[in-house]
Amino acid sequence: MLPDVLKKLSELISFLPWIGEKTAVKLAFFLLKANPSYVQKFADTLRDIQAQLHECSTCHGLTDTKYHECAICRESLRKTEVLCIVEDYLDMVAIERLGIHKGRYHVLDGIISPLSGKSPKDLNMSDLMNRVSSEWIQEIILAFNPNIEWEATSLYIEELFSGKDIKITRLSRWLPNAGFIEYADEITLISAFRGRG
Ligand SMILES: [Zn+2]
Repeated sequence: MLPDVLKKLSELISFLPWIGEKTAVKLAFFLLKANPSYVQKFADTLRDIQAQLHECSTCHGLTDTKYHECAICRESLRKTEVLCIVEDYLDMVAIERLGIHKGRYHVLDGIISPLSGKSPKDLNMSDLMNRVSSEWIQEIILAFNPNIEWEATSLYIEELFSGKDIKITRLSRWLPNAGFIEYADEITLISAFRGRG
C-alpha cells in the first residue's frame, strides 16, 4: 500500500536496532516531509560516517580519522591510574556523559562467550594487557552490565591481573535484572559507579 520509495526507506530504517515497522514508517514519512537541506545533510553524513570514523588506537573507542587517539585519550589532564573497562563504545559514552569518571577507558568490543564462540583472543584483551604493563594503573573498574553473561569476562580479567598491585572493582549491583548500562538513568548509574567495590 505504501509508495515504493517510502516502502524502501521504511525497510532500511527498520533494519536499525530498536526500531519496529510502525516507527520505521513514521520516520520515513518524517524524512519525506522534512526540510530538503536537512535531508541532504542527513544523507551526506550517513554516506561519510564509515569513512570518517575509526577506532582509537589506545582505548578502541571511536574517533575522527584525522586522529590516532580519541578525545579522551588525548586529554592530558585525565587520570591515567584509573582504567574503566567497558563492553562497547555506547557504554563508554553513557558513563562519560555522567562526568563522574576522570580516568581513561578500554573498550573490549564484546564479552567472553563460549556459546557464541567468543574467546579472549576475539576481544581487545592483548591491548589491555599491554596497557596495564606499560601504564601506571592503580584501579581497574569493570563497568559491565550486571548479568550472568558478564561473569566469565569479569573473572577472567580479575584472574589476569591478580598478581599485580591493582585494585579491581565492579559496579555495585544496582540495575534491575537484565539491566543495561546504556539504558540506565543517570542517578542509578552514578550511584552504581560511586558504590563500586
Ligand atoms: Zn581512546
